[in-house]
Amino acid sequence: MNYADIHMHTSLSDGALTPSETIAMLSILRRGYIAPPFDKFFGDVKYPVSIDSFLERARSISIVGFVDHNTLLSIEPVVRASKDIIGAPKAVVGFEATTRINLPIRGVYSCHVLVYLLPRYGIFPADLNDNNFRNFFQECVDLYGPITRELNEFSNSRFLELGDHVDRVLFSGRGVVTGDKIKEIARRRCESMNIEVSPCICNFSNHDVQIGTIDIGEIIISEGLAQNGGEVRSKYLGRSGVAYLKISEEQGFPLLEDFLSKISLLNGKYVRHVVGIAHPVTLVREEFLASVKNGSSYFDARISSFQCVEKKIREVSELIDFIETRYPYYHHFVLPQHCEESLDLLNIKERLYNKLINAKFSDLAKILGLHESGGSDAHFMATTPLPGIGWGDIDISEIDALDLLKT
Ligand SMILES: [Zn+2]
Ligand SMILES: [Zn+2]
Repeated sequence: MNYADIHMHTSLSDGALTPSETIAMLSILRRGYIAPPFDKFFGDVKYPVSIDSFLERARSISIVGFVDHNTLLSIEPVVRASKDIIGAPKAVVGFEATTRINLPIRGVYSCHVLVYLLPRYGIFPADLNDNNFRNFFQECVDLYGPITRELNEFSNSRFLELGDHVDRVLFSGRGVVTGDKIKEIARRRCESMNIEVSPCICNFSNHDVQIGTIDIGEIIISEGLAQNGGEVRSKYLGRSGVAYLKISEEQGFPLLEDFLSKISLLNGKYVRHVVGIAHPVTLVREEFLASVKNGSSYFDARISSFQCVEKKIREVSELIDFIETRYPYYHHFVLPQHCEESLDLLNIKERLYNKLINAKFSDLAKILGLHESGGSDAHFMATTPLPGIGWGDIDISEIDALDLLKT
């Protein structure tokens, strides 16, 4: 059986491993050996999959996709690693764009859009100096670079805002976390990554340097407040951390429909793009949480939330190729205030509801004549049992990702 998992992240946005580390890890799994960070999860009750079934699934993954947030930086290192590393899966590349939508109750919220960039000449060549690849890559930069650069600037300004906030909350505004320091750490991180990329990536401007919680985390660690990234997240920056900053207004990021219209005009000679709505199930969840807060019943709120996201997708259906209908649900449920049920029971309910919602999006895709896609959205954090490939409800063999990849 061939599986595809075409939604993963690397350290060139907010993933934990570099492109080559990620692909090396995948190729180890494909040979039937367990590799970090997964080795530590088995036996943990929160990781509901056995080592055997995990490895069985991992062994059959033949196509992986990398879609780092608002950047093209991972394209070249990913293609290189998938060629250089023995036993690596075939890789597709692209980016995950942050756009903004307005949900009736939740209000302004970010809507992620997946853009896969596929070479028109078919599979990637072995040699990155090959003219086909260079033309493809240069055209990616020329056509999509201005868009990702603009998105990345919005994203960076949000993280600088988070840095200010962290400085106020954790360091009483002493200037321990400053914008310049964050940028410098991010720049060093990106530079250290560029060791594995060829000179054509150097054409990128500094704007491509991605600031993330990873860089703010480094300052927190250097100040002795945490040992590692996991602790940074759980104690300080994560949802229940003391310095968590909820950014409610997605100012700056383009409206979903504007972004899609803009990208639909791009037409390359060497590259073609395939575009779709990422994990709509998470949009439903956000709207649902807002509805429950307003007093709606659990089930009604879920269905009405689905309907409003469905309406959005119908409105833009002419501008997209697919919906990401296979998306595992793994975030632990945040208890509504009045709720007295146990967290375990809620997690079971969440999985059921999200399976239902994913199935409803699948029906919608069929009605609208759209492709379906899926992936784990793995970031490969070593400290939290995020799913990674092979987790839970996702049955990637059902998706027509392979169809998407036919040139
Ligand atoms: Zn996303
Ligand atoms: Zn993602």
